[in-house]
Amino acid sequence: MQFARSAIFAVLATVFLVAGRGPAAAEAELTVVATTGMIADAAREVGGELVEVQALMGPGVDPHAYRQTRTDIVATSRADLVLWHGLYLEAQLEEFLLDLGARRPVVAVAEGLPREQLIAHDDYDGAYDPHVWMDPELWQRVVVEVRDALIELHPEGEAAFTANADAYLDDLRGLASYAANVLASIPPENRVLLTSHDAFNYFGAAYDFEVIGIQGISTESEAGLRRIADLVELLVARDIGAVFVETSVSDRNIRALVEGAASEGHTVGIGGELYSDAMGEPGTYEGTYIGMIDHNATVIARALGGEAPARGMADRLN
Ligand code: ZN
Repeated sequence: MQFARSAIFAVLATVFLVAGRGPAAAEAELTVVATTGMIADAAREVGGELVEVQALMGPGVDPHAYRQTRTDIVATSRADLVLWHGLYLEAQLEEFLLDLGARRPVVAVAEGLPREQLIAHDDYDGAYDPHVWMDPELWQRVVVEVRDALIELHPEGEAAFTANADAYLDDLRGLASYAANVLASIPPENRVLLTSHDAFNYFGAAYDFEVIGIQGISTESEAGLRRIADLVELLVARDIGAVFVETSVSDRNIRALVEGAASEGHTVGIGGELYSDAMGEPGTYEGTYIGMIDHNATVIARALGGEAPARGMADRLN
């Protein structure tokens, strides 16, 4: 008994010591939960020391198919603010988030974009392509939505949120200009981007690429053999030299394409792995939004005959 009690005091003492020592934990006033890594990154940049941010979806996670876990339900119900993308990106989470929104502050940050800047969905009338982060110009407007959501929640933080957002928006303008420069170096006839699913329409619109996804805008529809055969014909006819795999989608269909082209005597390489619907590992440069887009622009430029530094915009790519 005596031993047990002193053991409990020892544990409590450690807890207080650790809690008292963590400056970030002590200073953060708000907890924010975001669905995707890209939104979480924006919230971290804008929120700075005032917010503690958690992302529900990690590297390689497909947001179209993601369903909430028990841990997610607890985290979102305790958060001061829940940020999600909207535009039907998180198709399987939508009901849960709309329901939560009746009780907690929940904001769909991409829903605030002006409709004339959105690309219509191929398959659903009145719906839009959700992959707006692929255009860093458009993503700046989402960062502004994140800033405004934080200010509304915590008006005392307005000066800090505004200053942080201004600095981050500056960095995003630098990113957009780097991407525009390296992608413009690709010969126009090579500007065909063929990937696993239709995540790159905004990228294509911003940088003048023809974009072809094997699967539709969502990853849920299975690509038929017919689709693969048609795309092999297109690769051969257009003499396309590289196709791309995505970190959040199986590479099965892309490999089938490469093999199909090879059987017709046309060599197609895998141009690299692109971050489409999820960022890289937390704690790495590619695990940030800027690193993700820098990686994509650099890899695409180099694979399709353009010029870009091997380690990207800031010599930070791994
Ligand atoms: Zn997608």
